Amino acid sequence: MTRHFNFCAGPAALPTAVLERARDEMLDYRGHGLSVMEMSHRSAEYVAIAEKAEADLRELLAIPANYRVLFTQGGATQQFAAVPYNLLGNGGTANFVDTGIWSRKAIAESHHLFGDARVAASSEASGNTRVPQQGEIELSHDAAYLHVTANETIGGLAFDYTPRAVRPDGGEVPLVCDMSSSILSGPLDVSRYGVIYAGAQKNIGPAGLVVVIVRDDLLERARPDMPTLFGYKTLAEGGSMVNTPATYSWYLAGLVFEWLRHDIGGLPAMEAINARKAAKLYAAIDDSELYSNPIAPANRSRMNVPFVLADERLDRPFLAEAEQAGLLNLKGHRSVGGMRASLYNAVPEAAVDALIDFMADFENRKG
Ligand SMILES: *Cc1c(COP(=O)(O)O)cnc(C)c1O
Repeated sequence: MTRHFNFCAGPAALPTAVLERARDEMLDYRGHGLSVMEMSHRSAEYVAIAEKAEADLRELLAIPANYRVLFTQGGATQQFAAVPYNLLGNGGTANFVDTGIWSRKAIAESHHLFGDARVAASSEASGNTRVPQQGEIELSHDAAYLHVTANETIGGLAFDYTPRAVRPDGGEVPLVCDMSSSILSGPLDVSRYGVIYAGAQKNIGPAGLVVVIVRDDLLERARPDMPTLFGYKTLAEGGSMVNTPATYSWYLAGLVFEWLRHDIGGLPAMEAINARKAAKLYAAIDDSELYSNPIAPANRSRMNVPFVLADERLDRPFLAEAEQAGLLNLKGHRSVGGMRASLYNAVPEAAVDALIDFMADFENRKG
């Protein structure tokens, strides 16, 4: 068996140690005589799995007691609808910082559902190479919250600060953050946010699960016409088991949280590894004649590193030879072209070293 290096943007690499543990527990989960996949979500065994996952996530992110953690479904995309349903019950307008494709999808959904979405700042004028600074963010007078995308998975553009969401009258509103592609990549001050959500398939576990972290005072702001399963309050009161949850994905997420705590040593250690991986790859890109990345250094994503080749006719041979060398899924998103290497937590430093060696060799031969 060979496991290649997988740079996929999502569903993404999982830690080998986690997959081995899941394999070992697959047929007979710890002497219970059945697979986790076959368990009732109401059984004592499964409830213990679910509670342990939440406890480990709380420990990793130091989530304050006044925040609820929800394990729900429908992808991050469903949260583009769930957030405004949950937070616009008292009126007001959803405000957004537009930093690229994922922000725009969230903006479009809010517009589609409620006919309104205020863009409080945008990176568009910079060609999405720079995140707007705090002073450039202008909330509307009636802002109900500010939505930001911590890391634009496609553009490789990331916030290097936590914005404050302040209306022109000085009133602070909740900050809502799509952290799908950066959660758990390093420590986080959860108390700065009203709502954090993240699809699992980048840094948490397999697809099919979304984690929502919500401050408990925000559970009372929902619109009454909201679909039941969107409701943060309903999910919180039902222990995220209002209907059948994505049980196996939740279990695997729990194994990833344990791996982060015990194998990696927590999020400060994870952040140091991620910083090293990204710094190496950007240095290799910047030092070459063939490869380039246009993002302002302070806003370069540590998780998703897009780059283009100086001659796009080399794209095909680059990808074909990379695959031959066991470096998978380096093709950039269809909307931007070029290449993208996603360096999520589960992508080992050895993968980045192998990629850098391959890129240098390819440039020597073709550049
Ligand atoms: C992947 C991703 C999404 C969409 O996730 P789905 O689970 O496919 O709905 C949304 N936002 C960001 C930042 C992402 O990386």
